[in-house]
Amino acid sequence: MKRVMIKTVNLTKKYGDFTAVKDLNLEVYEGEFFCLLGPNGAGKTTTFLMLLGLTRPTYGSAWIEDCDIIRNPLEARKRVGFVPEVPGLYDDLTARENLTFTAELNGVPKSVREKRIKDLLDKVDLKGWADVKVGKFSRGMKQRLAIADALIKEPKVLMLDEPTAGIDPKGSEEILSLLENLSRKEGITILMSSHLLHHVEKYGDRIAIMKKGEIVATGSISSLVKEENIVEIDLEGVDEALISELNRLDGVKEVERRGNKLIIVAQRDIRREVFDVASKIGKKVISVKLTQSLERIYAKYFREEEIR
Ligand code: ATP
Repeated sequence: MKRVMIKTVNLTKKYGDFTAVKDLNLEVYEGEFFCLLGPNGAGKTTTFLMLLGLTRPTYGSAWIEDCDIIRNPLEARKRVGFVPEVPGLYDDLTARENLTFTAELNGVPKSVREKRIKDLLDKVDLKGWADVKVGKFSRGMKQRLAIADALIKEPKVLMLDEPTAGIDPKGSEEILSLLENLSRKEGITILMSSHLLHHVEKYGDRIAIMKKGEIVATGSISSLVKEENIVEIDLEGVDEALISELNRLDGVKEVERRGNKLIIVAQRDIRREVFDVASKIGKKVISVKLTQSLERIYAKYFREEEIR
């Protein structure tokens, strides 16, 4: 049985009449790399703030490990390291000084402090930068230091709000593979938000797609991809009879006409049946193509929205 490290039940946040997060039901397992995916304003930051006990949910419940975030926010927060979108590091202090400051704040005993800081700087690949002022760091380096900073209290859960925002592709890869290592090798549970599909697709174990405060799809990347089979069929003529026959096929969710093309969204690969139906009706098939892609799923949910 997998251990649940983050759980929410109908977690909801309203600001006046506006609902920023609605009935969020999430379970994140120990050592999992879980991504909340959605465009700006989807409610990702609000979700973090609630999980950290920094804003009170309007209703619903949430737990970090076995700790209720509403009844016992301080205990819950002890289990979580958080990296906000803009990390609160001091530019005029060195990397080591920044970590020492956080270690002191978190009551890390002096006897272990120095070694822990050294190990963390190694882990985030900043060994040679320990005594350099953070003001000289690139954004990617600052973000890696912020991860070390969040790990100083040795939390079981690490939450990161858009950790790759504004960071170049190489820097982003470094951050994501560091996070992957933390979950795979150290069993740290990771909850990360992002609006960048390709980051999530490559590194995340499971994702939840958020839209206007609600989860519209959740699962492992492979299971989500399997549920969205897009069959594109090019024919010599399309008519209503063919469309209604195709709509009757088991597992078909949507048939969209684009000139002489049909775009069929189905829960499984239905290429063979599509071909058979078209032949039975006497339509000549020019080509049949299958796409299984998370990008199409994402585009489907956010077609009308701006994705940064
Ligand atoms: P971003 O990446 O831009 O932070 P997000 O997915 O994290 O996007 P949130 O910051 O959680 O989204 O915001 C969700 C919605 O709630 C937005 O429409 C935002 O304007 C609204 N919102 C957030 N905080 C408040 C607040 N204190 N008062 C009123 N509305 C708020």
